[in-house]
Amino acid sequence: MLIYIEKKAKDYEVTKKILSNFSNNQILWIDHYKNIFDKKIGNQILTPAIIIAKEENPNLLPVPNNYWYPGKSFFFRTSLNCVFDCEYCYLKGNFKTKYPVIFVNYEDIKNEITNKINEIRNEGYNNQITLYASNYSDIQWLDSLSWFNENFIPFIEQFENVLMESRTKSANIDSILSINKWIPFNNTEISFSLNPKEIISKYEKGTSPLETRIKAINTLLDKNYKVGLRFLPLLPVNNYEKIYSDFLEKLKWEINIEKIHSIFIASLIYNQWDFKTMQKKNPNSTLWDFVKQHENWLIKIPDDIFENFSKIFKQAFPKKEIYYDFV
Ligand code: SF4
Repeated sequence: MLIYIEKKAKDYEVTKKILSNFSNNQILWIDHYKNIFDKKIGNQILTPAIIIAKEENPNLLPVPNNYWYPGKSFFFRTSLNCVFDCEYCYLKGNFKTKYPVIFVNYEDIKNEITNKINEIRNEGYNNQITLYASNYSDIQWLDSLSWFNENFIPFIEQFENVLMESRTKSANIDSILSINKWIPFNNTEISFSLNPKEIISKYEKGTSPLETRIKAINTLLDKNYKVGLRFLPLLPVNNYEKIYSDFLEKLKWEINIEKIHSIFIASLIYNQWDFKTMQKKNPNSTLWDFVKQHENWLIKIPDDIFENFSKIFKQAFPKKEIYYDFV
């Protein structure tokens, strides 16, 4: 494997760990990750590679209004990109290459998180602060390279009423379990993004099979970890009402839903710029049949269809609060 390393990322602990785990690799020293990451490569077949870099701007970004959990919430990023191949994934529209980038200056990122939490608490806000960690990559898939879990899950435990969400389509939970020798933590929710099998095989190529994700969910629930279920994007494929109703019945049969910490649902949704880029990259995708432009310039599934989805989920999980992305 090829490893691109920014010269300024050389002396970080995570860099050393990554390098010690790979022998016979070709290392290429670079000045800035964007010199590789932002290069238009087209359809060439690429040598497998990762990029190790320093995040020079580790700011937390506020989430859009009405984004999932109520209260103050932020995105932060420790890596970019994902090896899975979800046809709808906006990362593909935004990123020019598929190479994962790992930002190794974890202490800088942790300092930003601490400062932000202190700032908010000093303003007198005592409700839940949510930190979304996985909007730029699937960090659970990447964990064997990035040591995200080992670094960030114990760190987040020190804060009161703070929840970090790590969302994944991977069934890779070994490092989660090993952090605290199978003792669950309070401040991190591992949320699994799920869709019916028909949709996974058509639109979510390379992601862990549904059965292995269910197995991972049950392993974590058995040990009382905080586990969330995410149904996003909802896709109104032919016969979607029956497909999703049957799928939710299966989940209720195989998972103890009472123990699930939270459930989120969301439409397939783009802003117009992302949508144009995605369409340009994959003009023949059948996904574009599912969406239409709304008055607010967002491109998403029609409201009446989303309402139908909402009913299906409420009927399936009458005792659970279902969180929406109300954009
Ligand atoms: S798993 Fe998530 S981040 Fe990865 S390709 Fe699919 S949607 Fe994108």
